[in-house]
Amino acid sequence: MQVITKPDTIREIIKGVKKKGMTVGFVPTMGFLHEGHLSLIRRASLENDFVVVSIFVNPLQFGVGEDFERYPRDLERDRELARSAGCDLLFVPSSKDMYPQGYATFIDVERLTEGLCGASRPGHFRGVTTVVAKLFNLVSPSKAYFGQKDAQQALVLKKMVTDLNMDLDLIVLPTVREPDGLAMSSRNQYLTSEERKEATVLYKSLLLAKELVESGEKDTHVIRKKMGEVICTAKGAVIDYLEIVDTKELKPLDLINGQCLVAVAVKFGTTRLIDNIFVEV
Ligand code: AMP
Repeated sequence: MQVITKPDTIREIIKGVKKKGMTVGFVPTMGFLHEGHLSLIRRASLENDFVVVSIFVNPLQFGVGEDFERYPRDLERDRELARSAGCDLLFVPSSKDMYPQGYATFIDVERLTEGLCGASRPGHFRGVTTVVAKLFNLVSPSKAYFGQKDAQQALVLKKMVTDLNMDLDLIVLPTVREPDGLAMSSRNQYLTSEERKEATVLYKSLLLAKELVESGEKDTHVIRKKMGEVICTAKGAVIDYLEIVDTKELKPLDLINGQCLVAVAVKFGTTRLIDNIFVEV
């Protein structure tokens, strides 16, 4: 497995790979890899001849006062994990190379970015779409892999791919969870042992929503209230949002009719966790 830091170098390598007629699969990450990331890399490795993984803690998608500086980083460990999951090329660019002095071009997907994480983290998705578009241009994959854990991000990126006529398949894979249901996240690292125990309320609340819907409850206000009660059993939990939205435009629903997305964001101290599930009547 090669480790490359320079954008120009990766372009050259990809050119060579494509000349040989090989397909390129791509998994963008911010590193500190866990089973969630590895599930994407393994799938990419099954479905493509050559797999590129990027590790870039993208400053553009962090707001003022967020965790950019303290975001966990461990390249040595990531390198071994990526390699063993089937990565052929690890791309680890610097911020200076991604956003040189005078950088001025940004991508904004409208509407879909207004609610949920977009409302709590202004500018976040502009950072995500901009960096992912740049990475897509450098790697030119035929398939790119993302996690359902970041449901809004996946939808926003799909919209970008469609709207900008990008020539690739965006594949979304299921959320990988810890045995107690907590969605794997590099940010789980921040939790104290007490917070880690309490963090299971996110998934518990989502499962309750699913149960309620399956037993015939359609009123989202009732469901959200009951979910809120589950989350509040954790003393350290502060709800950022708790929404039931349609799966196309991510608009809040009053009544469940068809498939919808139940999405939560909860803070434990300075750590903000997100999770979601689809439910359907
Ligand atoms: P990140 O490094 O957190 O930016 O995540 C990189 C990619 O891994 C994104 O597509 C995420 O949605 C995906 N991902 C993160 N956590 C999980 C998880 N627990 N299960 C599946 N995919 C995940």
